[in-house]
Amino acid sequence: MGIRLSLNFLSEAPRAIILLSGGLDSATTLAIARDSGFDSYCLSFNYGQRHDIELEAAIRVAKALGAREHRILDLPLRDFGGSALTDDAIEVPTGGVTPGIPNTYVPARNTIMLSLALAWAEVLGGLDIFIGVNAVDYSGYPDCRPEYIAAFETMANLATKSGVEGRRLKIHAPLLGLSKAEIILRGQSLGIDYAMTISCYQADGDGRACGVCDSCRLRREGFISAGIVDPTPYISMPR
Ligand code: ZN
Repeated sequence: MGIRLSLNFLSEAPRAIILLSGGLDSATTLAIARDSGFDSYCLSFNYGQRHDIELEAAIRVAKALGAREHRILDLPLRDFGGSALTDDAIEVPTGGVTPGIPNTYVPARNTIMLSLALAWAEVLGGLDIFIGVNAVDYSGYPDCRPEYIAAFETMANLATKSGVEGRRLKIHAPLLGLSKAEIILRGQSLGIDYAMTISCYQADGDGRACGVCDSCRLRREGFISAGIVDPTPYISMPR
């Protein structure tokens, strides 16, 4: 910890908070933040998602991509349930991506997570928060859209001492307008090994992806479109 603190002290790079899930998108977002010259402070959440393996992936990604610090906070979203990811009574859909908001939507998740990132940013004196949302190859979640990100940024500047005193906070969503294939190509150009990431909503204890949830399907199609070998271990290959 002492070494970490002195590194912080010596670094003059601006600090950014990066929301890191352990999936492909947030890993790419972290690499983009680093490439933009930020010191990366990664924030992950144990929010009752179906598997801990995702958090193990987040730890690997943060280390591999040179995060300055990585915090994992508990969020009791399972107390409310209401999503296939936080309630075992609700099945993860496996029949293919369909129009509309699927039951893997976690109520208000990005608002809750961005709010905690905002609190940490103010404490660290950082003005930049990165989130790997995407509104092209995605599941229609309302809190992944550009209007939402812009509205949160407005709120962040109204709600904080930093914003009121003229140090404007920015919410970066660098993947917002990219296809999954474009995200993968960008990440590859930044040297990410996607084998360390896990996107599946219901990976098994060995980190193998189900191959049939929406997240697996979008990821698989992204690798195929990008013309890059998909390093994901699958329980059953997506068709
Ligand atoms: Zn899956």
